[in-house]
Amino acid sequence: MDAGTPLTQLKGIGPALAEKLQRLGMDCIEDVLFHLPLRYQDRTRITPIAALRPGMDAVIEGVVAAADVVQGRRRSLICRLQDGSGTLSLRFFHFSAAQLANLQRGSRWRCYGEVRSGASGLEIYHPEMQRIEASLPRPVETSLTPIYPTTEGLSQLRLRSLADAALGWLEQGHLLPDLLPAELLPEAGMPDLHQALRWLHRPPPGTDVQAIESGQHPASRRLIFEELLAHQLAMLQLRNRLRRLQAPVLKAEGELHQRFIDNLGFALTDAQQRVGEEIRQDLQRNKPMLRLVQGDVGAGKTVVAALAALQAIEAGWQVALMAPTELLAEQHFDNFRRWLAALGISTAWLAGKLKGKIRDNQLQLIASGEAAMVVGTHALFQADVQFHKLGLVIIDEQHRFGVEQRLALRDKGSAGDCSPHQLIMTATPIPRTLAMSAYADLDTSILDQLPPGRTPVNTVLIGDSRRDEVIERVRAACGDGRQAYWVCTLIEDSEQLQAQAAEATWQTLCESLPELSIGLVHGRMKATEKATIMAAFKAGELHLLVATTVIEVGVDVPNASLMIIENPERLGLAQLHQLRGRVGRGSTASHCVLLYHAPLGQQSRERLNTMRETSDGFVIAERDLALRGPGEVLGTRQTGLVQFRIADLLRDADLLPAVQQAARQLTNHQPQTGRALVRRWLAHNPQFAQV
Ligand code: ADP
Ligand code: MG
Repeated sequence: MDAGTPLTQLKGIGPALAEKLQRLGMDCIEDVLFHLPLRYQDRTRITPIAALRPGMDAVIEGVVAAADVVQGRRRSLICRLQDGSGTLSLRFFHFSAAQLANLQRGSRWRCYGEVRSGASGLEIYHPEMQRIEASLPRPVETSLTPIYPTTEGLSQLRLRSLADAALGWLEQGHLLPDLLPAELLPEAGMPDLHQALRWLHRPPPGTDVQAIESGQHPASRRLIFEELLAHQLAMLQLRNRLRRLQAPVLKAEGELHQRFIDNLGFALTDAQQRVGEEIRQDLQRNKPMLRLVQGDVGAGKTVVAALAALQAIEAGWQVALMAPTELLAEQHFDNFRRWLAALGISTAWLAGKLKGKIRDNQLQLIASGEAAMVVGTHALFQADVQFHKLGLVIIDEQHRFGVEQRLALRDKGSAGDCSPHQLIMTATPIPRTLAMSAYADLDTSILDQLPPGRTPVNTVLIGDSRRDEVIERVRAACGDGRQAYWVCTLIEDSEQLQAQAAEATWQTLCESLPELSIGLVHGRMKATEKATIMAAFKAGELHLLVATTVIEVGVDVPNASLMIIENPERLGLAQLHQLRGRVGRGSTASHCVLLYHAPLGQQSRERLNTMRETSDGFVIAERDLALRGPGEVLGTRQTGLVQFRIADLLRDADLLPAVQQAARQLTNHQPQTGRALVRRWLAHNPQFAQV
């Protein structure tokens, strides 16, 4: 038996339990040791009832004086418990007959829970209870009680006993080597791995719990350092693996490039030229490019993508461009078809909604190579899509795709150890502190200049008590021939509720503004319906578009110069910035009204004020990061970025220089150790599974 022994081989762990543990990322004994508590409770002392105060979490021990079911506003079971110093009520809103029968007068119980002041003096609702036999006194806990992250149907008791078992194994000494030699640890006083794990799972009484919970305790810092190091190593390994691959050398005279520019009708910005050149150089190498282009909304990333595509096509290769939504993919398809048709190049189109003959036809164009350019959604990496000679993969709005999807599309073009080049475009500015760790496997280019003639969007905050005024504003703007968006937001992650809310708003706006033609798009509509409405809005046939946040990414309607965002306090700043980027694309002054739900808390006001003060996506991202923390800024769930178990990039950023140094040291001198660290911390992560 060792650290890698599957949990299913342990006594008492059946398939159902194993499945729950797996949901928490636990497959083997080692995983249990790294499944760390979220917080702790102090159950090392029994508190006399007389010393209890509301708000305390406490262990008490006493004898049942009475237990009765009472009919109050809600039926409940109340048990009076005495300990010689006073009396306290335990209250249960859910209880069984057996539970009631168990609470015999005179029986002795130890209880744990939060004390509150209730109808009958001090009370504890639903305490954890343990019966104490007079003949068999039980010792109190000897260390602080850990509270583990858990999942439905898995009790803390279960997790605790599992951790106890794993710690027992650790005690016997044969589990889990400490991979970090003391000289690699950046701080004196950092414990070794075993001490750190024991400390975090079972802190001795008197431990500064706050220090642990805030990641400041030396035991926490020790593991945080190791986790950050594992991530850094994984990124380096990913990079090195990529460097060993070959890629097609995409050399071109630039004839297509020139003709494209001549037809474009505007000149490239300096930033577009610079980034275009960086990409051009990359594509001429025989190593796969992996480049992230960050550019604010409206910075003109599509043109940059087109330049890259033309270089690949001129060199005789095929290009795939993938966008996260059908709407956006279709917009790209329109652009590319128009641009490329003028150069005699055909573009194929693939999306989930394409069926039957039409789909077969597109597949045929792609497989034969007749279409040198292919645009689509994630439908592009379905199994029956065969590319002819895929040399470049372009991915728009990367944060919407998981890393797995990115790799899947790349693998479509891979043959042996040859891989296509990859260009990734995102409008989500990533704060520098995070970029270093989150995207360490990518080269980055920044499109830090907007095309000329854009006027910054004027943003105002208005409380929803002044909704009528805002509606008048919409009436006036649309009366003047301009177009407007009305964006509905909802906290729930339910497309259905979002759609209902948007529909209700659409209805009231139709009643208030009968002279306007008003469209509605939301995520529950069929793609064709959505596309029809968007096309009508783009063509100027609709004055006002009511939408959920589906319009967030990439949609381009220059004549739209007013945007109302309802309940903006529900969204992250980065998302608001994205939304706002839909206006301000033409030459007229644009406005964005943040129609918040009053009253607004201090922090929300501060956040929304950021939107008023700046239109610089990077500033907004940094501010968002400071106010909310990295998980939310990047929308971890969507990014495909790894979740940390204990580290927090922002909080622990001071460790990053030491992490990078240690990573280089290990990579150069102890690559085995480096690989073992990555396996230990990241074995479950698809991004690194193939490292
Ligand atoms: P994003 O970076 O948000 O993807 P787009 O590529 O959609 O931005 O470009 C936004 C708009 O700006 C498009 O209408 C595009 O044609 C236009 N555009 C791009 N580059 C320039 C430029 N250099 N000069 C003027 N307009 C440009
Ligand atoms: Mg775009």
